[in-house]
Amino acid sequence: MADGSGIEWTDATWNPVAGCTPASAGCLNCYAARMAMRLSHMPGKTGDKYGGTADKNRSGRPTFTGKIYLDHDALNTPRKWRLPRTIFVNSMSDLFHPNVPLEFIQQCFKVMHECPQHVFQVLTKRPERARELASELVTPWPENVWMGTSVEDQRVMWRVRELQKIPAKTRFLSCEPLIGPLRRLPLKGIGWIIVGGESGPKARPMESEWVLYIRNQCLAKDVHFFFKQWGGVNKKATGRELEGRTWDEMPELVAGDQECLMTA
Ligand code: SF4
Repeated sequence: MADGSGIEWTDATWNPVAGCTPASAGCLNCYAARMAMRLSHMPGKTGDKYGGTADKNRSGRPTFTGKIYLDHDALNTPRKWRLPRTIFVNSMSDLFHPNVPLEFIQQCFKVMHECPQHVFQVLTKRPERARELASELVTPWPENVWMGTSVEDQRVMWRVRELQKIPAKTRFLSCEPLIGPLRRLPLKGIGWIIVGGESGPKARPMESEWVLYIRNQCLAKDVHFFFKQWGGVNKKATGRELEGRTWDEMPELVAGDQECLMTA
């Protein structure tokens, strides 16, 4: 990791939005909500940004409350990063959450468009909103903005169909936490799949058969495959090897040596 984002498949995170609401079963042990509760106790701007965005629910799990914070100050951060980075957008929220106004999403896309030296990875559990708004963001869709959706089990397979209608050049799936088998994955127009098991004290198990099925689909359809981790209570012990090796494939990064079109 270039700057310690902690996520194996990216260099940095950029969080112009904080806060979310659970969208499906994959959100049950949301790591971002746990982190937001911690950050809400920090002094100054960080505490203000995350304050009230997450709380414990009735079963004692940290959960996002639906309060959304739009961080206008953070909007220009990628412009200040001159060297190319692969940037995960909104690790502490969902850019297409219904409470994030269109105007703010448009501002985020403007920054991404104007920073072609970076690759931006936008991951959402609400691809239907992304698809609805796509024509109102930047047209044509910037090549350096990858669009992805999370698919944790069969019940949310419909998200793939929504993603396929978004005119991004690079579309990807994050199957993490994978909590059930995914049969008949529609892979047309999908360039990359990340698979990972859930980690932490209440981690739900992931069967190796589910992972192998996805890996084999990727091999058969020429889709890049990234295996992030087995997960579990002790993810360091379970590691990230699948059939004796690691799988770190990614789509080709674009640009790389271009300067920002605008400066901060
Ligand atoms: S959509 Fe993502 S950030 Fe939002 S609650 Fe679910 S897992 Fe957490």
